[in-house]
Amino acid sequence: MRSDRMKIVQGDITAEHVDAIVNAANRTLLGGGGVDGAIHRAAGPDLLAECRKIGGCETGEAVITEGYRIPAKWVIHTVGPVWRGGAHGEAELLASCYRNALRLASEHGVRTVAFPSISTGAYRYPVDEASQLAVCVVGEFLSADDTIAEVRFVCFDERTHNAYSKALREHVDAPSQSGVVPRNRDAG
Ligand code: ADP
Repeated sequence: MRSDRMKIVQGDITAEHVDAIVNAANRTLLGGGGVDGAIHRAAGPDLLAECRKIGGCETGEAVITEGYRIPAKWVIHTVGPVWRGGAHGEAELLASCYRNALRLASEHGVRTVAFPSISTGAYRYPVDEASQLAVCVVGEFLSADDTIAEVRFVCFDERTHNAYSKALREHVDAPSQSGVVPRNRDAG
């Protein structure tokens, strides 16, 4: 069990002193509201210029840029699904966001990474379900990865913080019983 490598904190992800922070971006990668806007404001215009060169990102996928003016060396941009009731592949896509972001982090030698609560703001994914999925998918990834030492879930508000704290407690108590982790599609 690797849940000791997962931490829940409340605060502003742009101020985190980690190797990489994850951005809940949109498919244009050109910035937006919420955490995306905060990251672009804090990192400065060079981040937008690099994102513009990349040209976009599909839902569930991830790309990596430099962090520019923020403390983190890297920003990993991933595009969460818009919640449309839960029967439109939302869970699989959200799981892909976490897996693809962590894969990029590991490939870049990242030891510490901070995630926001992807999709639970403007994209309206229910935070109880999103937090359970996030903790389980990250826990599963970490159990097969030796590069990443710590994953922080940086929750902006108290309600989100409470949901992630509960999800992590439940995961530690019964990691295999949650049933919320969709299988990796290319693993069959
Ligand atoms: P999405 O479009 O994926 O739903 P949002 O940015 O709207 O993304 O919301 C995702 C989560 O990020 C929400 O819980 C929101 O409160 C939170 N958030 C907003 N600003 C920040 C920030 N500076 N640091 C961390 N989390 C933030």
